[in-house]
Amino acid sequence: MSNSFSLLETNILKAKGLADAQIAALVEAGVNSREAFQTVGSAATLLELMPGLDAGVAQKVMEWAVGASTASAPQVGGPNIVLDTSDVVYCVHCGAKQPKDYKSGDLCSSCGRQAEPILSCHWCSASGPGKFCRSCGAEFVAPAEYDLALLLKREGLPKDEIATRLKNMAAVEKDQLWGRIRRSR
Ligand SMILES: [Zn+2]
Ligand SMILES: [Zn+2]
Repeated sequence: MSNSFSLLETNILKAKGLADAQIAALVEAGVNSREAFQTVGSAATLLELMPGLDAGVAQKVMEWAVGASTASAPQVGGPNIVLDTSDVVYCVHCGAKQPKDYKSGDLCSSCGRQAEPILSCHWCSASGPGKFCRSCGAEFVAPAEYDLALLLKREGLPKDEIATRLKNMAAVEKDQLWGRIRRSR
């Protein structure tokens, strides 16, 4: 294994805004291949290794090296806080964060596979990507809670209340439902 970046890697790092001296400093710190950035893991850690580095450059380098998902924006002077909103979709295959204009069913912008899992609808048993069933409009529930949703449906809970009910349900109550499901098997 070589102990420095390849010519191509060096050129890419330069294109991202790193100076020769900074690349040399990286190699000295033990970061000597694209793979080594995986160990670094985030732009924040890269900045800790390379205090003089521009945060924007660190971000670009990490996006190139490990993909946009893990290289979240560093918070100046603080830990790496990832603000996650429920609207953000991460690819189930490669973990890449999907662009803002992402629509359910789109292919991953990073790996090209279906970014979201195909879920089965507990209400009409159609399946599809996204948060809602395209056939009946029911909100999908987590696959692990599919059986709970079926039970709630049998109990007569309206279609549009099942997912919300499950989200707000206490763990104890879920356990009780699971107990009933097991007994009925
Ligand atoms: Zn992907
Ligand atoms: Zn449905």
